[in-house]
Amino acid sequence: MSSASFPELHNVGDEVSGQFRCNDCDLLVVSPVENDGILVLPPCPLCDGETWRRVG
Ligand SMILES: [Zn+2]
Repeated sequence: MSSASFPELHNVGDEVSGQFRCNDCDLLVVSPVENDGILVLPPCPLCDGETWRRVG
């Protein structure tokens, strides 16, 4: 039951914290310091992608 080799994927509207890259174009988004560090994932502003993967 190891998921270590699979990136953690999130969808638009998920509340996340940390750094995420668009699964399609690799655009980086980082959760804000304010608002308890919570980022609501948007559609990718570059490619309109709806899937993000956690970085690091
Ligand atoms: Zn993108």
